[in-house]
Order: sequence, then C-alpha cells, then structure tokens
Amino acid sequence: MITRFAPSPTGALHLGHAYAAWIAHDRARAAGGRFLLRLEDIDHTRCRPEFEAGILADLAWLGIAWDGPVRRQSAHFADYAEALARLEAMGVIYPCFCTRAEIAAEVAAAPGAPQGPAGPLYPGTCRHLSDDARAARMAEGRDHALRLDVARATALAGGPLTWVDEKAGRQTARPEMLGDVVLARKETPTSYHLAVTVDDALQGVTLVTRAIDLFSATHVHRLLQALLDLPVPLYHHHGLVMGEDGLRLAKRDRALALAAMRAAGESPAALRRRLGLPPCPGAAAPLPCAGQVEEE
Ligand code: GLU
Repeated sequence: MITRFAPSPTGALHLGHAYAAWIAHDRARAAGGRFLLRLEDIDHTRCRPEFEAGILADLAWLGIAWDGPVRRQSAHFADYAEALARLEAMGVIYPCFCTRAEIAAEVAAAPGAPQGPAGPLYPGTCRHLSDDARAARMAEGRDHALRLDVARATALAGGPLTWVDEKAGRQTARPEMLGDVVLARKETPTSYHLAVTVDDALQGVTLVTRAIDLFSATHVHRLLQALLDLPVPLYHHHGLVMGEDGLRLAKRDRALALAAMRAAGESPAALRRRLGLPPCPGAAAPLPCAGQVEEE
C-alpha cells in the first residue's frame, strides 16, 4: 500500500487538506505501507516558498510524518517532457493557439457547445486546423498550449478502459467528459493531469486518495495511463469538507486555515473528531500519528 498527499503550495492549507492528508496517511499506516508527500508546484506564478513552509509546519503540527524524500514536481520537468514527447509521437497532441477570450467568445456563440462538470468544454477549434495553418502559426512564433486529442487518444488506446473507485465501484473511463484538456503550456511545460499521472506511476502509488471534485479528472488520467503504459492504481475519492456556510473551503478562506486553528489553540485530536476520523490507534497525546520526518 503506497498512498500520497499532494498539495499545491499556492495558499495556506485548511481543514479540508487535513482531512485529505489524514485519509491518505491513515490508510498507509493501517496497512503497514508507505505514505508519501508530493508538492505539486508546477505553476511558478502561483506557488510560493512561504506556502510550502506552511504546509510542512501544518503537517508537523498535525503529527503527520511521511516516508522518504518529498517529491517536488518542479524538479522533475524532464519526466513530464518525456511523457509528452511519447504522446506527441503517437499523434494525440495538437497545438492550440486560442486565447482564453477567443475560447469564451466561441463558446458564447455556440449555445449547444458541450459542457463539462465545471463549465463549457474547449470547443476543439485548433483540432481542426490544417497542417499548413498549424505550421504557419508556429512559424510566426504564436504562443500555444498543447492539448490532448481525446477522441484520437481514446481510439488509439482501445478499450473499454476501466478503473475502480473504492466507494463508487468499477467505472468505465469517459475521458471526453473534460474535453481536449491542456497537457502543457509555454510557461508551465506540463499540466496537473500529466504530472499527477506520471508521478503516481513513478512513485509506485497503489491507492490514490483525493477529493470527489477530481473524480472526472480520473477519467482522463486513466486514458493517459493506457497511452503511456502505466499501472492503474485503485482510487478513493472522498467527500469535501464544507465550511459553516455550507460551501466548500478554499485556500482564500482564512477561518479554517490550519495555521489559524493552531493559533486559536485547537488540537489535532479535536480536528480528527470534528472530521469524523477515529483517534489514531496507539497514538500518544498530544500529537496523533506522530512519527519520524525524514529530511530530503
Ligand atoms: N494537487 C492537487 C490539489 O491540491 C491534488 C492532486 C491529486 O490528489 O490528484 O488539489
């Protein structure tokens, strides 16, 4: 059993992150397996060292210790580039020159445009460009993202592709749900979808635990696993922790930031109770689940 907690250092961790971290941690510890920490810091415009320091301090306070060195995605761009090159060689990647404004205008002009779980999908504009038009835009040095041609990729992968969520059961992958997702941009030479899929495989993660809002992303990851010949882990999509207003927590909400709760004198044991998690077996107060933190 190998699990991981994979926060992005783009803000302060909140109660929802504590829940996610404990779920992954507790499963590994209960099975005598390994619990890994990965910092998903590919977006250098939003990640900051102080957020990373905050994550480490919050986990120490929670008594959560991870095994082995921390993996920082920003140190592994070569791994993602290699995966991307393989996908490009398969002909399932295309350059997209659309700006966000152009996509929004196109979607607005087509009332029947396909919808995804989080809004309209990319309408596929650049998928239909001729080779000459593509080459001309490239020659002009136009900024572009690289998108996955989901229809082509699905046909190439064969199938049906399935994956298992512990709660929801066996799923047949429907990667088209998210449309032609971006796999790389100029300023970020990978994307969440590509990096997370490659890393879970490289790190040998056997059980991916993460919040239910990423359920649809798993359909895309399953397709990438098939194309890149990667093992398929088991999944556990857990519920989101809601704030008192009934809305999901966001990093910008200060009230339930772990640092604020710590400053207010809350205890990790009380947080576990509040989250409906059992006390850690054999834990000595005041830090449940405390262990050794290995330095990188
Ligand atoms: N980095 C992602 C986040 O902070 C989680 C990725 C995952 O668990 O797959 O939401």
